[in-house]
Amino acid sequence: MTTRRTDHDVVVIGAGFAGVYLVHKLRDGLGLRVRGFERGADVGGTWYWNRYPGARCDFESEFYSYSFDDDIQQEWDWSEKYAGQPEILSYIKHVAQRFDVRRSITFDTAVTGAVFDDERDAWQVTTDRGETVTATFVVAATGNLSVPLTPTFEGIEDFAGTIHHTGDWPHEGVDFSGQDVAVIGTGSSGIQAIPVIAEQAAHLTVFQRTATFSVPAANRSLEDQERRATKRNYAALRKAAADTRGGILLELAVGDFRTADRVAVRAELERRWRASGVSVTATLSDTLVSPEANEFVAEFVRDKIRATVKDPATAALLEPRDYPIGTKRLAVDTGYYETYNRPNVSLVSVRETPISRFTERGLLVGDREYAFDSIVLATGFDAITGALERIDITGVGRHTLREAWAEGPKSYLGLMVHGFPNFFIVTGPGSPGVLTNVVASIEHHVGWIAAHIDSLRDAGVTRVEADAQAQADWVAHVAELAGRTLFGRAASWYMGANIPGKPRVFMAYLGGFRAYRERCELVAEAGYEGFIHGPALHEAVAVPTSERTGV
Ligand code: NAP
Repeated sequence: MTTRRTDHDVVVIGAGFAGVYLVHKLRDGLGLRVRGFERGADVGGTWYWNRYPGARCDFESEFYSYSFDDDIQQEWDWSEKYAGQPEILSYIKHVAQRFDVRRSITFDTAVTGAVFDDERDAWQVTTDRGETVTATFVVAATGNLSVPLTPTFEGIEDFAGTIHHTGDWPHEGVDFSGQDVAVIGTGSSGIQAIPVIAEQAAHLTVFQRTATFSVPAANRSLEDQERRATKRNYAALRKAAADTRGGILLELAVGDFRTADRVAVRAELERRWRASGVSVTATLSDTLVSPEANEFVAEFVRDKIRATVKDPATAALLEPRDYPIGTKRLAVDTGYYETYNRPNVSLVSVRETPISRFTERGLLVGDREYAFDSIVLATGFDAITGALERIDITGVGRHTLREAWAEGPKSYLGLMVHGFPNFFIVTGPGSPGVLTNVVASIEHHVGWIAAHIDSLRDAGVTRVEADAQAQADWVAHVAELAGRTLFGRAASWYMGANIPGKPRVFMAYLGGFRAYRERCELVAEAGYEGFIHGPALHEAVAVPTSERTGV
């Protein structure tokens, strides 16, 4: 019989790809009493909020999708190689509907606090709706890019037009027809939105601080016969993808820079660029570790920019020169550089002279004022740690997660933090999540967390915590791997460098998805090595086998 020492066995925070699967896996697979909370009005996470024009995935849709249920993957037909936001959101809703996930989730409700009760091995979770519930476990499925960042711009409230953030886009859409529009920011979001807004607006001015490397998606419709071929081989393809560094099948490197023939590498870069640029940085095996290899690939992309953008001064501004290619997230675009050849698009660099302030009419850069009807902030997110640090999470000894992470996030395997028992994180800092096909990482983490909770239940244990030394070793390992690469040379959100005052620590595990999975497997096989399983002080969560459905 299920025990009632807490209101719920598990509280799941967030209902994106991770939260939806967690609810199904823990509730229907393990028979646990699961309660989800979601800030939005429905499921979808990133794909619920990021409805800006041009928003689409840059991992192939057939693989940026769940693999846990063969019926779902067999019946869902992706229309394009890289699906747009509306299609991905429909897909998540379809999965939520199939497994009746919504009935376990309270929407329009943000979790504001979670306090661990050391005596009872239970969390007390509070929401912005004034509800308080208790649960043995909390699983944070809060996402890595879920807290939109609006930089502190003086006078922002003075602007008489409208301001929209790409990460919190109006559901009814925005009609820019006939408008003078500004986009601030040229990361992945800006690079996707700019070509689409340019087609609608009377005039678009892009404010760029750092030029970004972007490669062509070469997106296209999928043919029936391609979809059938993928579906026939899904299991094998997913397995092969799980054995890669990124959890996605990309073309392999042709060699390293020292030994490869330069002419052949150049020809291969050219071929890849035409087919879809996403594997350009993977052409050489050492792009992310050798400055020379990196510069060779970077210069190839700069050549493409010069060849595409007709105005040489604009092309020069668009050439990325501030960081090694691949050390900030590579953007994947549809017609981005071509957009600057349109007569209604202009580019303003705010590298030397930053935006000084917003005014009633628009933006002031130095002593020049630009007037706009609408301003789009494509200024990114408080990435990886932002969503968790916005919740008051208090662990053992009344220490908060914010205190524990004051010098940068620490975790064991990206899954748990010492001092915060029974609190799991999906694709947290220290996981490879953001460097991989995140849906593959999510499925892995959810599966691993579920198996771990199941084993605790079987053992009659109500408490698990990351060991301090195991965590310290993992943090050191993550830092050591990052230190071998060029990632430290970029002021990226991977490093927390897009937020003034945020500790600069490389926050993701660079060993690759395969190595990470293998490590997690070894840890589990060794009886969850590095995790301290508390004594069975309390009546354990116990669900009869008959209530489990084997998901
Ligand atoms: P981002 O990569 O952090 O880019 C933010 C942009 O805003 C940068 O160009 C930044 O310039 C600029 N910016 C910030 N503050 C500014 C200021 N005060 N003045 C002028 N410019 C300013 O954010 P994002 O584009 O939203 O992308 C974040 C991540 O989300 C991506 O890296 C990717 O992982 C994910 N994403 C994925 C997709 C996809 O799958 N297709 C699409 C969108 C986003 P600096 O570079 O100089 O800081």
